[in-house]
This record gives sequence, C-alpha cells and structure tokens, in this order.
Amino acid sequence: MSKPLAKRPRNLPCGRPAPAEHDAPKAAKLEEWQGRLRAYLSGKGLKYSEQRWKIAELILSTGGHLDAQGLVERVKKAHPGIGAATVYRSIKVLCDARILKESLSDSQRRVIYELFDDEHHDHIVCTDCGAIFEFHSEKIEAAQNAILEEQQFTQTKHRHVIYAKCAYKAEKRPSK
Ligand SMILES: [Zn+2]
Ligand SMILES: [Zn+2]
Repeated sequence: MSKPLAKRPRNLPCGRPAPAEHDAPKAAKLEEWQGRLRAYLSGKGLKYSEQRWKIAELILSTGGHLDAQGLVERVKKAHPGIGAATVYRSIKVLCDARILKESLSDSQRRVIYELFDDEHHDHIVCTDCGAIFEFHSEKIEAAQNAILEEQQFTQTKHRHVIYAKCAYKAEKRPSK
C-alpha cells in the first residue's frame, strides 16, 4: 500500500502544533470488529443488520478521540435518515461489545470515546482550546502499579487525565 502524503502540521490557536491525528483503522481491523459485533449481538440474542454495521463502521473508521455529537453529525452526513437516538444506541452497543470505550471527559465535560484496542495512554486536556493530547510515562505507570501492590489491589483499568492551561508562548512558535 502506498503511504498517504504527510499532512501539513496544523497549529492550534495558541500556536502549539496540534496533536498528531490518528490513522484510520485498516480494513482488516474493521473486519475483526465486524466479527466481534456479530458475535456480541448473537450472544445477546440481538439482530445483526447491514444497517447496524454501516453505522458502526462510520463510527469506528475515524479513530482517535470521538464525541457523541460529532459522531451523530458524521453519520447524518453519510445517512441523512439516521437519527441521533440510533447513533447513541450504536455507541452504547459498541462499548458493550468492547470495540469502543469511554475514555475521558473533555474540557466541556463531553464524554470522549476511543477505540477499545488502542494501546494504553493517558491524556492532557488543554482547558484553553480544548485540544486533547496523549502521553505515556513508564514512571507514572510503574508508580501506580507500586501503589496498587502496596495497597493490595489488582488493577482492572485506570484513567489518568490532566486538565491544564496552555503555557505555549509566542516565542516558542516555530518560525515559518
Ligand atoms: Zn496510564
Ligand atoms: Zn487518547
């Protein structure tokens, strides 16, 4: 497969380079999720339909950080007949089927969803512009694990979200 041309780096209003965009999931991944959705629905005695998958595929094919309203608009654009309630229901089913997960609340307290299979990472939310950044720190992960061990807990999952004011200064902007 040929690599898509590199996108021009986008800058946020503060001048900070925007967080890297997630790649759209590969076709094989979509097929795997389709199988997972089918299995989940049949296990629950629910009907699998092409319509149901069409919506799921649209939701999943973006990747990255997704909010429900944004997903409603995305589905509406492609299928004007599909209402918000149907999209919300699809999001719930995809979460129950462990294909999608609730990941954090953004600066406007909207629930942000991510793909369930994304590798573990933590988040920084800019309270000035709302942008969501990802980070991973072995030190923090190790410290959390040490605390759990000390307190005799076994982790099932964790969320670590930092809400922060932007300290990006004009002088830090890369000159054009
Ligand atoms: Zn973490
Ligand atoms: Zn993320």
